[in-house]
Formats: sequence, structure tokens, C-alpha cells
Amino acid sequence: GPAPERLWLNRFAGLGPTFYSHVAAAPLRDPYWVARSDALARDLGLPADWATPEALQALAGNTVLPGSVPLASVYSGHQFGVWAGQLGDGRALLLGEVQTPSGASLEVQLKGAGLTPYSRMGDGRAVLRSSVREFLCSEAMHGLGIPTTRALCVVGSDQPVRREEIETAAIVTRTAPSFIRFGHFEHFSHGGDHDALRQLADFVIDHFYPDARSAANPYAALLEAVTRRTAAMVAQWQAVGFTHGVMNTDNMSILGLTVDYGPFQFLDGFDPNHIGNHSDHQGRYTYARQPQIAHWNLFALGQALLPLIGDHDTAMAALEPYKTALPAELDARFAAKLGFAQASAPVNAVVNALLQLMAAERTDFTIAWRTLARHLAGAPADTVQALFHDRAAIDRILLQLQELPAQVGVRPDADLALKSNPAFILRNYLGEQAIALAKQKDFSMVQDLLTVLERPFDEHPAHAAWAGFPPEWADHIQISCSS
Ligand code: AMP
Ligand code: MG
Ligand code: MG
Repeated sequence: GPAPERLWLNRFAGLGPTFYSHVAAAPLRDPYWVARSDALARDLGLPADWATPEALQALAGNTVLPGSVPLASVYSGHQFGVWAGQLGDGRALLLGEVQTPSGASLEVQLKGAGLTPYSRMGDGRAVLRSSVREFLCSEAMHGLGIPTTRALCVVGSDQPVRREEIETAAIVTRTAPSFIRFGHFEHFSHGGDHDALRQLADFVIDHFYPDARSAANPYAALLEAVTRRTAAMVAQWQAVGFTHGVMNTDNMSILGLTVDYGPFQFLDGFDPNHIGNHSDHQGRYTYARQPQIAHWNLFALGQALLPLIGDHDTAMAALEPYKTALPAELDARFAAKLGFAQASAPVNAVVNALLQLMAAERTDFTIAWRTLARHLAGAPADTVQALFHDRAAIDRILLQLQELPAQVGVRPDADLALKSNPAFILRNYLGEQAIALAKQKDFSMVQDLLTVLERPFDEHPAHAAWAGFPPEWADHIQISCSS
């Protein structure tokens, strides 16, 4: 295999101690495997038999991998729209970077590995419940083609962790090209350390946005590129009914990756104003508000980069593309859900009519779109009609849909529709069931869900029920913030 120093290069550590603290993981008693992603293991270039007892101990934080120098980074952020000051990796440790066979470099983090200088009131731990949720959702988002941090495995322990009740500890091993957040920039900008701010921005440009280097104003070019990636990411969330739940600026990736899986939800019935996170009293982070919140967060990033960009107008100009990129990305995603490779006014009109009817009736978002895709692939119209109460309204929409080819000059592509409308999403109730079993040390449903969610556009006959309607009790599941 590759030499350890190659396996564990750590470019972030090269930034220097202003950016992090060296921290050793706290031991986790008698760890056991809860779940593993073979797909990510393959992407990382790990051998098929990578999950050894030694790997288990290392990923539980009980031993240090050769060449790894674990660290916790410092960042700040706006939480629920309010400046929160210093935060940082309160329970995550960066172990180092792996060079993958494809030539990419991925940072490896342990989440839940114990106290750091940034733990504040927290205990540095994560519980089994939240770790299973993060693991499954990371890989589900990847399966959906949505930019995201990924998760290699969850290890568990019987070690107790106090939350609203006593739970048990777990650690997620997660990867990303970088875990740098908007909040890292805010930290050095608000602290007045403009040298560090510049060093960080140069690091991100050199490694992840090399095209920005040759722009007239590289920092404005960076901001514009992040703006475009963020718009694309949020549009993809909207297209699958995903609500992140806690879009604070410290949870916004500088690479436009979905990061920090806490109180996220996929909508069941389409309620754009549903509050998924029960700590979100104002409904700041509802589905409907995600696009404007992302813009707000980009504005905070722009403010943070202002000392580098130089003047306000140039920073504003770099954010401006959001106003066209976001709707364009949204229109494109929803047009694809109807089988059209390009958005157009007539297609948008059908999409909007559908979304309005679905919101009025709280129609199951995933089932309705998937059923429409199947209808485009030849299933009879009554499969769609059966999902709605207002028969006249859905018939008008189906008629509009029939008239589209004549209006836009192309027929809908059923394959595109089937690849744009997942049959399977990580529904809350499925996560809850898998977690309840995992608490009894039956990890089979976690692994089976992973297998299905890795390929959410395929049919999985053995698990067809997971593509069906959620049970009544799913409506009442409450998801809290940090766990
Ligand atoms: P979040 O709401 O998950 O984005 O977390 C906000 C901040 O709280 C971050 O700095 C986290 O590292 C920190 N944090 C969350 N939970 C814990 C915990 N159990 N122990 C230590 N820090 C935590
Ligand atoms: Mg966070
Ligand atoms: Mg979190």
C-alpha cells in the first residue's frame, strides 16, 4: 500500500497553529462496528478487508494511525441569524488526508471523538442516533447526486452519553475534500486577523478554486464561485424536498457541500413551511426559506471577505449572480423532474401548478414526483390522479403536461424523469426504525437502508415498502439540534 506519509498528508495542518489545536481523541470503551460504506471505502482506495480490529480501534479514537496528527479547527459563525462568536470543532477531529486512487485528496474526520478546546458546554461526544442519521444521510445525498460530505462508517460503544435521556456514544468517520466553512473566514475577519484571513483564502483558492487566481480580484472571484456552487447545492436540496434544518454560517461549506447532518429532514407531505428542527422557533430554516437563507449566509461570507476584496461594490457584484443562478438551477432541476433537459416558461408553469396543488393537499413529495415520472414512462394517468383529492385540478395539470411537447418542441424524456425523481429517500420514520433496532444491537436495517439509498433511482423490490407512504406516526417525529 501507499506510504503512511502519502496516506496522511495534511495540507490544512500546514496552515499553522493559528487555525487549529492539536487534540488527542478521547478513548471510546469497547467499540463495535455499527455500519460501513463499502462504496466510500472503494473510492478511498481501501482494500476490501480494510475493516480490521486495528481500523476499529483507530476509528474509535483509541489508537493513532501512522502519520496522523489529529487536530480541531477554530471557526466562528452566525447561528439563527445572530453572531455567535467563536465556535470550532467541538467534537470533530481532523485525522489527516487520504490520497484516493482517482488522484483526489480527502480529509478524514472523526465526529464525536471527545473534548476539544472548542467544545464549550458540550461533551465532545455524539450519540448513536445522530451518528446513524449522519451516516445514512451523507451516503443518501451522495446517491442522489447532491454535493455532500461523506461517511465511511459508524462505530458504537456502550459508553453512556447524557442527552435528554441517557444514550450511548458513537463516532462517525466522515470525509470531504475540505471541511472549511464560511465560519472559518468569519472567525479571522471578525477577529481582525487579516493575515490569517488572507492565508485561508489563498489556501482555498490554490487547492479548490484555482481559476480564481487569475481573476482581476481573486477573492471576489472566490466569492462568486462559492455563490454559484451554493446556489446549485440548494437547488438540488429543493428538488428532492430536503431541509437541512440548521443552516448557520458555520454549517455552510466553502466547497458548496452539504455538511453537518443534525436536524435535517426530507419532507413527506409537501409542506414548504414545515419546521423540521424543533429548536427553530421562528421557522428560519424551513424548506421554503432555504434559498434566501443561503443568500443571507453568502452575504455574511462576503462581509468576512471584504478586507481582502477591498470594496463593497466589488463584493456585492460577486454575490449578484445568486439572483439569477438560484432560479436557473431550480428551474433546471424541476424541469428535469418532468423529463425536460431545459427549463422554459411553459414547463415552469406546470411545475408551479403541481407544487401549488401538492402544497395545498400536503401530497407526499417523493411519491407524487416518482409517480409522475412513471406516468411519463407509460404508467396510466390514474396512478397520478389517485394521489390527489382535487380531481379537476390534477386533470388540468395532466392536460397542461400533454400540451407541453407541442409548446416547447420536445417530448419529455422518461429516463431523465426517472433519474431525477428518487423512489427512495431517507424518510424520518425509516431512520427512526433503523435507530431503534441499532439500539438493540441489530444493525441490519442501517446496512439495508444504505444499500437502497446508495441507488435511490433504482427499484429495490425487496424493500418496496420503503418507497411507499410513511405511517401515521411519522408526522409527529421531532428532531432536535445538536445530539
Ligand atoms: P451544530 O449546531 O451542530 O452546528 O454545532 C454548533 C457548535 O457546537 C459547533 O462548534 C459544534 O462543534 C459544537 N457542538 C455541538 N455538539 C457538541 C458536543 N456534544 N460537544 C461539543 N461541542 C459540540
Ligand atoms: Mg455544525
Ligand atoms: Mg451538528
